[in-house]
Amino acid sequence: MRYLGATHIFNGSDFLPEHSILIIDGSNVIKDIIKIHEVEKNEVEFYEGIITPGFINAHCHLELSFLKNVIPEKKGFVDFAINLISKRNNFKQTEILDAINLADNEMYLNGIVAVGDISNNDVSYHQKQKSKIHYHTFIELLAFNPAMAENIFNSGITQLEQLKSIGLNGSLAAHAPYSTSIELIEKITEYNFKHHLTFSIHNQESEEENNFFKGEKSTFYDLYAFLNADISWFKPNYQSSFAFYQPALKGNKNILVHNTYTNNFDYKYIKEGTYICFCPNANLYIENRLPDFSSIIKHTHSICFGTDSLASNHSLNLLNEANYFLKETNNLNLTLKGLTCNGAKALGIDDKFGFIKKGKKCALNLVHLENNTLQLQKILTHA
Ligand SMILES: [Zn+2]
Repeated sequence: MRYLGATHIFNGSDFLPEHSILIIDGSNVIKDIIKIHEVEKNEVEFYEGIITPGFINAHCHLELSFLKNVIPEKKGFVDFAINLISKRNNFKQTEILDAINLADNEMYLNGIVAVGDISNNDVSYHQKQKSKIHYHTFIELLAFNPAMAENIFNSGITQLEQLKSIGLNGSLAAHAPYSTSIELIEKITEYNFKHHLTFSIHNQESEEENNFFKGEKSTFYDLYAFLNADISWFKPNYQSSFAFYQPALKGNKNILVHNTYTNNFDYKYIKEGTYICFCPNANLYIENRLPDFSSIIKHTHSICFGTDSLASNHSLNLLNEANYFLKETNNLNLTLKGLTCNGAKALGIDDKFGFIKKGKKCALNLVHLENNTLQLQKILTHA
């Protein structure tokens, strides 16, 4: 048995009363939570800092790890997308696999225990099978032309079955409103709703995305031209990209990723069960702009964090994402929830992750807080 104590213990949703001690057995199961005076003092491992559950990275693209330091920064979303599409085929399979392996290990060493990971192919599946991290794979579907919705949806179901047949968990996701038709989004959300699975979509990552849906001048037309996609049939006349597709969101769990240009108009559409996932470093890398954290949390506290991929980030360290939120909002409790239980709830894995609870096996991180900045000190237990 280990007796673990710290200046503070955050259980996933709240701080435990002062002087609480966690009793952990040899398999890292929390056997009990007691008071410090109930145990011999020299038996207690006491740490300066905050003990938290292992972190949940709600949005990553493990398969893009090989694009680290490849795409120029701060040139706007369309430039980023064109660079990504142009450069992603210039690498050897071994380089791609090595980068995936390193990225998975980096997350593990950064105290991340579960990841919501986007996949467009199966290149990362082997790493996910052998990883010490739990992965929820979002099989990401794209097709802006409604005529393709049926076929693409059916191929998604086949991919999901393949994923499950090798023992991995997952669900279907849409890439983004400008790349996935409303018909396809509806098919995906209906399927996920029926099967109690989480949906995910990149939301309002750039102003150009909103401009496109408003029917205004937008660099998105350059992106469609680059892709040789004829979109003359699409007549945009919406108040934002979120306004375009939000009627298709069902009452299941939805993760909206980025929200860099989500504003007052959109907030009223955010329904219960919808999680706002922030990936600030990717927003700075691509658009050099941060979401309006303070305004968003006036409307919802269902926030979580993601690292996005190494194509748009220099590290896969969830605390580096959460610290932007903490600095602006000064809300330590919500920051810690966003790092732990909210991400677990969003992915539907809160029975196993995101909480410190008696009787549950739990990974524990020790973090240090100074100048409104959280830093990982030590991983106390792995799940
Ligand atoms: Zn992403």
